[in-house]
Amino acid sequence: MEIKNLVKRAREFAEPFRITKGKNFRLKDIDPGDTLHLQSEDKPRAKEVLASGVQLLAELQDMLYAQDRWAVLIILQAMDAAGKDGAIKHIMSGVNPQGCQVHSFKAPSPEDLDHDYLWRCMKLLPNRGNMGIFNRSYYEETLVVRVHQEFLANQKLPPELITKNIWNERFQDIRNVESYLTRNGIIVRKFFLHVSKEEQERRFMERIENPDKNWKFSSSDIKERAYWDDYMKAYEDMIRNTATKEAPWYVVPADNKWFTRLVVAAAIIDALASLDLHYPKVDKQKLEELAEARKTLLNEKGSKKKAPEKRGA
Ligand code: ATP
Ligand code: MG
Repeated sequence: MEIKNLVKRAREFAEPFRITKGKNFRLKDIDPGDTLHLQSEDKPRAKEVLASGVQLLAELQDMLYAQDRWAVLIILQAMDAAGKDGAIKHIMSGVNPQGCQVHSFKAPSPEDLDHDYLWRCMKLLPNRGNMGIFNRSYYEETLVVRVHQEFLANQKLPPELITKNIWNERFQDIRNVESYLTRNGIIVRKFFLHVSKEEQERRFMERIENPDKNWKFSSSDIKERAYWDDYMKAYEDMIRNTATKEAPWYVVPADNKWFTRLVVAAAIIDALASLDLHYPKVDKQKLEELAEARKTLLNEKGSKKKAPEKRGA
Protein backbone atom coordinates (compact mmCIF):
# COMPACT_ATOMS: atom_id res chain seq x y z
CA MET A 1 0.00 0.00 0.00
CA GLU A 2 1.45 3.39 -0.86
CA ILE A 3 2.48 5.73 1.94
CA LYS A 4 -0.24 8.35 1.44
CA ASN A 5 -2.89 5.66 1.62
CA LEU A 6 -1.39 4.08 4.73
CA VAL A 7 -1.30 7.44 6.48
CA LYS A 8 -4.92 8.02 5.54
CA ARG A 9 -5.95 4.61 6.89
CA ALA A 10 -3.95 5.23 10.04
CA ARG A 11 -5.85 8.48 10.56
CA GLU A 12 -9.17 6.66 10.15
CA PHE A 13 -8.24 4.08 12.76
CA ALA A 14 -6.92 6.51 15.33
CA GLU A 15 -9.49 9.27 15.03
CA PRO A 16 -12.50 7.58 16.71
CA PHE A 17 -10.50 7.10 19.90
CA ARG A 18 -8.83 10.50 20.12
CA ILE A 19 -10.01 12.81 22.89
CA THR A 20 -8.98 16.42 22.47
CA LYS A 21 -11.62 18.01 24.69
CA GLY A 22 -12.18 16.31 27.99
CA LYS A 23 -15.23 18.21 29.18
CA ASN A 24 -17.87 15.76 27.98
CA PHE A 25 -15.76 12.64 28.10
CA ARG A 26 -17.29 9.56 29.73
CA LEU A 27 -15.35 6.33 30.01
CA LYS A 28 -18.53 4.30 29.61
CA ASP A 29 -18.85 5.62 26.05
CA ILE A 30 -15.81 3.55 25.03
CA ASP A 31 -16.34 -0.20 24.79
CA PRO A 32 -13.13 -2.14 25.64
CA GLY A 33 -14.25 -4.82 23.17
CA ASP A 34 -14.74 -2.42 20.25
CA THR A 35 -12.94 -3.37 17.02
CA LEU A 36 -14.69 -0.81 14.76
CA HIS A 37 -15.86 -2.57 11.59
CA LEU A 38 -13.36 -5.42 11.99
CA GLN A 39 -14.37 -8.91 13.10
CA SER A 40 -12.14 -11.54 14.62
CA GLU A 41 -11.90 -13.23 11.22
CA ASP A 42 -10.19 -10.05 9.98
CA LYS A 43 -7.38 -10.66 12.48
CA PRO A 44 -4.86 -12.05 9.95
CA ARG A 45 -5.48 -9.09 7.62
CA ALA A 46 -5.19 -6.70 10.58
CA LYS A 47 -1.82 -8.24 11.39
CA GLU A 48 -0.66 -7.60 7.82
CA VAL A 49 -1.80 -3.99 8.04
CA LEU A 50 0.04 -3.64 11.35
CA ALA A 51 3.20 -5.01 9.71
CA SER A 52 2.99 -2.33 6.97
CA GLY A 53 2.30 0.24 9.67
CA VAL A 54 5.34 -0.84 11.66
CA GLN A 55 7.47 -0.49 8.54
CA LEU A 56 6.09 2.98 7.81
CA LEU A 57 6.68 3.97 11.43
CA ALA A 58 10.30 2.91 11.09
CA GLU A 59 10.69 5.05 7.95
CA LEU A 60 9.15 8.08 9.63
CA GLN A 61 11.33 7.60 12.70
CA ASP A 62 14.42 7.48 10.50
CA MET A 63 13.51 10.91 9.14
CA LEU A 64 12.68 12.21 12.62
CA TYR A 65 16.17 11.17 13.69
CA ALA A 66 17.93 12.59 10.63
CA GLN A 67 16.05 15.89 10.87
CA ASP A 68 16.92 16.21 14.57
CA ARG A 69 14.34 18.90 15.35
CA TRP A 70 11.18 17.31 16.73
CA ALA A 71 10.89 14.75 19.50
CA VAL A 72 7.90 12.53 20.27
CA LEU A 73 6.82 11.55 23.76
CA ILE A 74 4.46 8.59 23.93
CA ILE A 75 2.76 7.95 27.26
CA LEU A 76 1.12 4.60 28.00
CA GLN A 77 -1.20 4.18 30.94
CA ALA A 78 -3.38 1.21 31.82
CA MET A 79 -4.57 -1.23 34.42
CA ASP A 80 -2.39 -4.33 34.83
CA ALA A 81 -2.43 -6.84 31.96
CA ALA A 82 -4.02 -4.36 29.53
CA GLY A 83 -1.15 -4.95 27.11
CA LYS A 84 1.23 -2.01 27.45
CA ASP A 85 4.34 -4.16 27.18
CA GLY A 86 3.08 -6.13 24.19
CA ALA A 87 2.04 -2.95 22.40
CA ILE A 88 5.51 -1.46 22.87
CA LYS A 89 7.20 -4.68 21.75
CA HIS A 90 5.17 -5.05 18.55
CA ILE A 91 4.79 -1.46 17.45
CA MET A 92 8.40 -0.51 18.01
CA SER A 93 9.78 -3.73 16.53
CA GLY A 94 10.95 -1.99 13.36
CA VAL A 95 12.38 1.24 14.74
CA ASN A 96 16.06 1.93 15.14
CA PRO A 97 16.81 1.45 18.87
CA GLN A 98 19.29 4.32 18.66
CA GLY A 99 16.46 6.80 18.21
CA CYS A 100 13.96 5.35 20.66
CA GLN A 101 14.05 4.92 24.43
CA VAL A 102 11.54 3.22 26.71
CA HIS A 103 11.29 4.13 30.39
CA SER A 104 9.10 2.36 32.94
CA PHE A 105 7.97 4.22 36.02
CA LYS A 106 7.33 2.14 39.10
CA ALA A 107 6.92 3.20 42.74
CA PRO A 108 9.20 6.22 43.31
CA SER A 109 12.60 5.80 44.96
CA PRO A 110 13.71 7.80 48.04
CA GLU A 111 15.67 10.05 45.67
CA ASP A 112 12.54 10.61 43.54
CA LEU A 113 10.53 11.45 46.66
CA ASP A 114 13.10 14.08 47.56
CA HIS A 115 12.00 16.05 44.48
CA ASP A 116 8.87 17.42 42.88
CA TYR A 117 6.81 14.68 41.23
CA LEU A 118 7.68 15.59 37.65
CA TRP A 119 11.41 15.45 38.27
CA ARG A 120 12.02 11.78 37.55
CA CYS A 121 10.10 11.99 34.27
CA MET A 122 11.55 15.28 33.09
CA LYS A 123 15.06 13.82 33.38
CA LEU A 124 14.12 11.19 30.82
CA LEU A 125 12.36 13.26 28.15
CA PRO A 126 13.37 12.27 24.61
CA ASN A 127 16.18 14.17 22.90
CA ARG A 128 15.39 15.96 19.66
CA GLY A 129 15.14 13.47 16.84
CA ASN A 130 14.07 10.74 19.25
CA MET A 131 10.95 8.94 20.32
CA GLY A 132 10.53 8.43 24.05
CA ILE A 133 8.06 5.97 25.47
CA PHE A 134 6.90 6.28 29.05
CA ASN A 135 5.49 2.99 30.31
CA ARG A 136 3.44 4.66 33.09
CA SER A 137 4.36 8.25 33.81
CA TYR A 138 3.67 11.33 35.92
CA TYR A 139 -0.01 10.51 35.38
CA GLU A 140 0.36 7.89 38.13
CA GLU A 141 0.41 10.93 40.41
CA THR A 142 -3.29 11.38 39.66
CA LEU A 143 -4.10 7.65 39.58
CA VAL A 144 -2.41 5.27 42.04
CA VAL A 145 -1.56 8.19 44.34
CA ARG A 146 -5.18 9.34 44.25
CA VAL A 147 -6.57 5.87 44.84
CA HIS A 148 -4.11 5.22 47.69
CA GLN A 149 -3.75 8.56 49.36
CA GLU A 150 -1.19 7.16 51.82
CA PHE A 151 1.31 7.52 48.93
CA LEU A 152 0.66 11.24 48.95
CA ALA A 153 1.58 11.36 52.61
CA ASN A 154 4.96 9.83 51.67
CA GLN A 155 5.79 12.56 49.21
CA LYS A 156 7.33 14.90 51.79
CA LEU A 157 5.12 17.78 50.67
CA PRO A 158 4.68 20.69 53.10
CA PRO A 159 1.34 19.83 54.76
CA GLU A 160 -0.33 23.12 53.89
CA LEU A 161 0.08 22.29 50.20
CA ILE A 162 -2.05 19.18 50.52
CA THR A 163 -5.58 20.47 50.08
CA LYS A 164 -8.71 19.15 48.43
CA ASN A 165 -7.61 21.01 45.29
CA ILE A 166 -4.45 19.00 44.89
CA TRP A 167 -5.74 16.83 42.00
CA ASN A 168 -7.00 19.80 40.03
CA GLU A 169 -3.72 21.56 40.69
CA ARG A 170 -1.85 18.54 39.37
CA PHE A 171 -4.03 18.47 36.25
CA GLN A 172 -3.31 22.13 35.70
CA ASP A 173 0.44 21.61 36.15
CA ILE A 174 0.41 18.69 33.73
CA ARG A 175 -1.54 20.65 31.09
CA ASN A 176 0.95 23.48 31.41
CA VAL A 177 3.97 21.21 31.17
CA GLU A 178 2.59 19.44 28.10
CA SER A 179 1.86 22.78 26.48
CA TYR A 180 5.43 23.87 27.26
CA LEU A 181 6.81 20.67 25.74
CA THR A 182 4.69 21.09 22.61
CA ARG A 183 5.95 24.65 22.15
CA ASN A 184 9.46 23.25 22.35
CA GLY A 185 8.93 20.75 19.58
CA ILE A 186 8.30 17.76 21.84
CA ILE A 187 5.04 16.24 20.61
CA VAL A 188 3.02 14.50 23.32
CA ARG A 189 0.58 11.63 22.63
CA LYS A 190 -1.08 9.76 25.49
CA PHE A 191 -2.71 6.34 25.44
CA PHE A 192 -5.04 4.74 27.93
CA LEU A 193 -5.37 1.05 27.07
CA HIS A 194 -8.91 0.42 28.23
CA VAL A 195 -9.32 -3.24 29.20
CA SER A 196 -12.50 -4.63 30.80
CA LYS A 197 -12.49 -6.14 34.27
CA GLU A 198 -13.57 -9.50 32.80
CA GLU A 199 -10.75 -9.58 30.28
CA GLN A 200 -8.25 -8.65 32.99
CA GLU A 201 -9.45 -11.64 35.00
CA ARG A 202 -8.99 -13.91 31.99
CA ARG A 203 -5.43 -12.63 31.44
CA PHE A 204 -4.54 -13.00 35.12
CA MET A 205 -5.79 -16.60 35.02
CA GLU A 206 -3.63 -17.26 32.01
CA ARG A 207 -0.61 -15.82 33.81
CA ILE A 208 -1.31 -18.09 36.77
CA GLU A 209 -1.95 -21.22 34.73
CA ASN A 210 0.65 -20.92 31.99
CA PRO A 211 4.16 -21.57 33.42
CA ASP A 212 5.75 -19.37 30.72
CA LYS A 213 3.62 -16.48 31.92
CA ASN A 214 3.98 -17.00 35.67
CA TRP A 215 6.74 -14.40 35.84
CA LYS A 216 4.31 -11.73 34.68
CA PHE A 217 2.01 -12.25 37.63
CA SER A 218 2.34 -10.40 40.88
CA SER A 219 -0.01 -10.82 43.83
CA SER A 220 -0.20 -7.03 44.15
CA ASP A 221 -2.06 -7.09 40.81
CA ILE A 222 -4.99 -8.81 42.54
CA LYS A 223 -4.91 -6.22 45.33
CA GLU A 224 -5.10 -3.35 42.84
CA ARG A 225 -7.95 -5.06 41.02
CA ALA A 226 -10.05 -4.66 44.16
CA TYR A 227 -9.87 -0.89 43.60
CA TRP A 228 -11.14 -1.17 40.03
CA ASP A 229 -13.99 1.35 40.35
CA ASP A 230 -11.78 3.92 42.07
CA TYR A 231 -9.24 3.57 39.29
CA MET A 232 -11.89 3.98 36.59
CA LYS A 233 -13.11 7.15 38.27
CA ALA A 234 -9.55 8.46 38.52
CA TYR A 235 -8.85 7.62 34.87
CA GLU A 236 -12.03 9.33 33.72
CA ASP A 237 -11.29 12.47 35.71
CA MET A 238 -7.69 12.49 34.48
CA ILE A 239 -8.78 12.30 30.84
CA ARG A 240 -11.50 14.90 31.34
CA ASN A 241 -8.92 17.30 32.73
CA THR A 242 -5.86 16.65 30.60
CA ALA A 243 -7.14 15.87 27.10
CA THR A 244 -6.17 18.82 24.91
CA LYS A 245 -5.86 19.48 21.22
CA GLU A 246 -2.08 19.68 21.42
CA ALA A 247 -1.67 16.66 23.72
CA PRO A 248 -4.66 14.37 23.12
CA TRP A 249 -5.53 11.19 24.94
CA TYR A 250 -6.34 8.08 22.94
CA VAL A 251 -8.69 5.80 24.83
CA VAL A 252 -7.94 2.52 23.11
CA PRO A 253 -10.17 -0.56 23.40
CA ALA A 254 -7.86 -3.18 24.89
CA ASP A 255 -9.82 -6.45 25.09
CA ASN A 256 -8.38 -7.51 21.72
CA LYS A 257 -4.64 -7.12 21.58
CA TRP A 258 -4.44 -7.14 17.78
CA PHE A 259 -6.85 -4.20 17.63
CA THR A 260 -5.14 -2.25 20.43
CA ARG A 261 -1.82 -2.45 18.61
CA LEU A 262 -3.38 -1.32 15.36
CA VAL A 263 -4.89 1.78 16.95
CA VAL A 264 -1.76 2.75 18.89
CA ALA A 265 0.45 2.30 15.82
CA ALA A 266 -2.04 4.29 13.75
CA ALA A 267 -2.06 7.18 16.21
CA ILE A 268 1.74 7.36 16.30
CA ILE A 269 1.92 7.26 12.49
CA ASP A 270 -0.66 10.04 12.37
CA ALA A 271 1.40 12.13 14.81
CA LEU A 272 4.65 11.64 12.88
CA ALA A 273 2.99 12.18 9.50
CA SER A 274 1.60 15.50 10.73
CA LEU A 275 5.14 16.82 11.25
CA ASP A 276 6.08 17.05 7.57
CA LEU A 277 9.31 15.18 8.23
CA HIS A 278 12.01 15.12 5.60
CA TYR A 279 15.69 14.32 5.37
CA PRO A 280 17.88 17.39 5.88
CA LYS A 281 18.63 19.21 2.63
CA VAL A 282 22.30 19.32 1.70
CA ASP A 283 23.75 22.80 1.02
CA LYS A 284 26.22 23.81 -1.68
CA GLN A 285 29.24 23.53 0.60
CA LYS A 286 28.25 20.02 1.62
CA LEU A 287 27.77 19.03 -2.03
CA GLU A 288 31.29 20.26 -2.76
CA GLU A 289 32.58 18.28 0.21
CA LEU A 290 30.87 15.17 -1.12
CA ALA A 291 32.36 15.69 -4.58
CA GLU A 292 35.80 16.14 -3.04
CA ALA A 293 35.44 12.99 -0.94
CA ARG A 294 34.34 11.09 -4.00
CA LYS A 295 37.41 12.20 -5.89
CA THR A 296 39.69 11.20 -3.02
CA LEU A 297 38.16 7.76 -2.81
CA LEU A 298 38.47 7.21 -6.54
CA ASN A 299 42.09 8.31 -6.52
CA GLU A 300 43.02 6.00 -3.69
CA LYS A 301 45.97 3.79 -4.47
CA GLY A 302 44.88 0.61 -6.17
CA SER A 303 41.59 2.04 -7.40
CA LYS A 304 41.64 1.32 -11.09
CA LYS A 305 37.92 1.56 -11.60
CA LYS A 306 36.55 4.03 -14.10
CA ALA A 307 34.59 6.76 -12.29
CA PRO A 308 30.87 5.96 -12.41
CA GLU A 309 28.45 8.57 -13.77
CA LYS A 310 28.30 11.57 -11.46
CA ARG A 311 25.24 11.79 -9.22
CA GLY A 312 22.62 14.08 -10.68
CA ALA A 313 24.71 14.67 -13.86
P1 ATP B 1 3.76 -5.21 34.48
O1 ATP B 1 3.01 -5.31 33.20
O2 ATP B 1 5.05 -5.92 34.45
O3 ATP B 1 2.91 -5.52 35.67
P2 ATP B 1 3.79 -2.56 35.53
O4 ATP B 1 3.91 -1.26 34.79
O5 ATP B 1 2.46 -2.84 36.15
O6 ATP B 1 4.19 -3.68 34.53
P3 ATP B 1 4.89 -3.14 38.06
O7 ATP B 1 6.29 -3.41 38.48
O8 ATP B 1 3.88 -4.19 38.22
O9 ATP B 1 4.93 -2.59 36.58
O10 ATP B 1 4.31 -1.94 38.92
C1 ATP B 1 4.49 -0.64 38.79
C2 ATP B 1 3.69 -0.10 39.95
O11 ATP B 1 4.26 1.13 40.34
C3 ATP B 1 2.25 0.14 39.58
O12 ATP B 1 1.39 -0.48 40.47
C4 ATP B 1 2.14 1.63 39.68
O13 ATP B 1 0.86 2.05 40.09
C5 ATP B 1 3.22 1.97 40.68
N1 ATP B 1 3.63 3.37 40.56
C6 ATP B 1 4.00 4.03 39.46
N2 ATP B 1 4.20 5.34 39.73
C7 ATP B 1 3.92 5.50 41.03
C8 ATP B 1 3.92 6.62 41.91
N3 ATP B 1 4.25 7.83 41.47
N4 ATP B 1 3.59 6.42 43.19
C9 ATP B 1 3.27 5.18 43.63
N5 ATP B 1 3.24 4.09 42.87
C10 ATP B 1 3.57 4.24 41.58
MG1 MG C 1 2.05 -4.60 37.28
